[in-house]
Amino acid sequence: MSMRPDSKYSSPEPEIKVDCLLKRSVNKTTFTKENYKSRLFILDPNYLRYNDGKLQKRGKEKGRIPLETIKAVETVDDKMLDNKDNVFQIVYLENFDFYTLYIVTLNQEQRQSWIDAIRREALKCGARFNPKYHRGVWTKSLGKFNCCDQRDRGAIGCEVATPEIPDEPNDVSSYHRTPVKINHLPIPTPDPPSTPMTNGSKKPEKKIYIAIYDYTPAEDGDLELVQGEEYEIIDDSREHWWMAKGKKGKKGYIPANYVKKKFDLEIYDWYYKDLSRQRSEAILKEDAHEGCFLVRDSTSTPGMYTLSVFTNEGLVRHYHIRKNSQGQFYISDSHSFSSIPEVIYYHRHNSGGLITRLREPPHRNGKPSTAGFGHSKWEIAAHELEVMEVLGSGCFGSVHKGIWRGMPVAVKSMKENAMSIESFIEEARTMTQLHHPNLVQLYGVVNKKDCFYIVAELMKCGALNTYLQRHKSRLLSRTSQLLDYCLQICSGMYYLEKHKFIHRDLAARNCLVGEKSVVKVADFGLARYVIDDEYTSSAGTKFPVKWAPPEVLSYTRFSSKSDVWAFGILMWEIFSGGDMPYSGMRNIEVVDFVINNRRRLPKPEYCPEKVYQILTLCWQMDPEKRPSFKELVDIVSGLTDGGNYPTIF
Ligand code: ADP
Repeated sequence: MSMRPDSKYSSPEPEIKVDCLLKRSVNKTTFTKENYKSRLFILDPNYLRYNDGKLQKRGKEKGRIPLETIKAVETVDDKMLDNKDNVFQIVYLENFDFYTLYIVTLNQEQRQSWIDAIRREALKCGARFNPKYHRGVWTKSLGKFNCCDQRDRGAIGCEVATPEIPDEPNDVSSYHRTPVKINHLPIPTPDPPSTPMTNGSKKPEKKIYIAIYDYTPAEDGDLELVQGEEYEIIDDSREHWWMAKGKKGKKGYIPANYVKKKFDLEIYDWYYKDLSRQRSEAILKEDAHEGCFLVRDSTSTPGMYTLSVFTNEGLVRHYHIRKNSQGQFYISDSHSFSSIPEVIYYHRHNSGGLITRLREPPHRNGKPSTAGFGHSKWEIAAHELEVMEVLGSGCFGSVHKGIWRGMPVAVKSMKENAMSIESFIEEARTMTQLHHPNLVQLYGVVNKKDCFYIVAELMKCGALNTYLQRHKSRLLSRTSQLLDYCLQICSGMYYLEKHKFIHRDLAARNCLVGEKSVVKVADFGLARYVIDDEYTSSAGTKFPVKWAPPEVLSYTRFSSKSDVWAFGILMWEIFSGGDMPYSGMRNIEVVDFVINNRRRLPKPEYCPEKVYQILTLCWQMDPEKRPSFKELVDIVSGLTDGGNYPTIF
């Protein structure tokens, strides 16, 4: 085929089938009766394209459907579409929605040969067909399909679809070949097939990712991301900033957490990868709409997925998504599908045995933070930062709300001579690269002669200790919610432990609360840069004695295991509703109590015995005997996610 320089899209692929057919407009919001146009349809190994013009005189390309996105190719019953005969339909997926293209052919033979050819090529491209289709059409005047009573235009269908058997049985080797070009979003499966090569060796697969958020470059060398578009990842050796190439060939750094692998479930807004049962309940209860749902990895059964749904009784129900012997996914075994998105799609239109039909996933709060503003930017120009109202103040300065290029941030200003700025700045660069959903992100610093600011992620609900005190009566009876706070903090601390980074001042006052009960650890490592003997010396009045283990009090020996001791105290704060540990005791008395008398904080009234056992594990005299944060994540999540799932059917 000749390349068409004037065409919006060009394809060097061979043409498999070409005909002039009548096409009904795919009006994505309303159907109009008369809108039929003659188009030149061209089937190639990757696309079904349609152009203006005729066989002899081709016009401009008007559109194309990637074959891999096709979900059904079926006839339409005679007269069911605007009184026309010989019609067939192509159902395809675009931007997470199903659309139907209706095509009128001259006679039954022409219709069947097109259906066969499209089905065959689509299957070769790895398309997965829906189990059902409509032999009629959704009709505006009826407000439903004219073949059944389904009112939702996106409902999967009422008739069992033609089985997925290609009509070229000898061509087995090419079934489910990965398409050459990938421009759209196919329904992903958890294990995408690799690309087999003719010589048996495997060509390294291109890493194609999809932007799930927009990203505006913060500095030269960054690449703009447009949500929904594809990018090829060229270098992912850095943890948080990857070198990527856009559609037009432009290269640059992008935040790694703003893109997801093309075939991954993570491109769906209803999928939450590492979410505990408790977090899922907290998130769904905050939205509190019947049918609000999400899918997460099951923590009780690794490798399994769980659907969590908010019900009209104000509860959250959890369902396992199972896999049958044919590898099909299902919640109710009478409705099984080849992928999880199809299961979800089905249950969004039919309750199919669930307590309610699935509606919308929870609203996500804006974009997640990036590891620093740009791939190397960590010094921020003062004129770009607007400093606004005070959020709070601590021992060493105050924290203000701020705006940087339209984005809300927290701005920490230190009291004069409270901090060794020079050495902190050297370290700040590394600290911006510490990035985890449960760590307050450090974006960078403003360092001008007369001002020094630390710019960090803004957390809407302030410090955890005061949050616990404010909501004490409501929270104390909710063990699962309190355990969820512990688990979140533990996950953030596990990340620091893995990166060999010691916090040195872990306490509820240094954790911050955001929307949807998110808790993040703040101020990690900052203690090392404070110039104040009262804070840095264990005998000082500002030293966090009540959070310090014996080896720190005696020899100033900090380690991840001293953070673990502090985490035990922090859990105690959580389960006592923000009380001050060792209340009424002076620091010197605490040292005596802990080291000489080998005594420990008592169990808070509302703390279950099993939880208190975790606290005491963290307070072992010998640091080596304390669990690591890695172990603590398992221990705490074992307590939070062990619930039973309701069985339906
Ligand atoms: P401290 O000296 O007690 O660690 P900070 O100076 O870090 O306190 O913070 C003082 C107060 O400012 C906190 O208690 C909290 O209410 C508020 N704050 C600190 N950091 C942030 C942030 N990133 N987002 C929102 N509020 C914050």
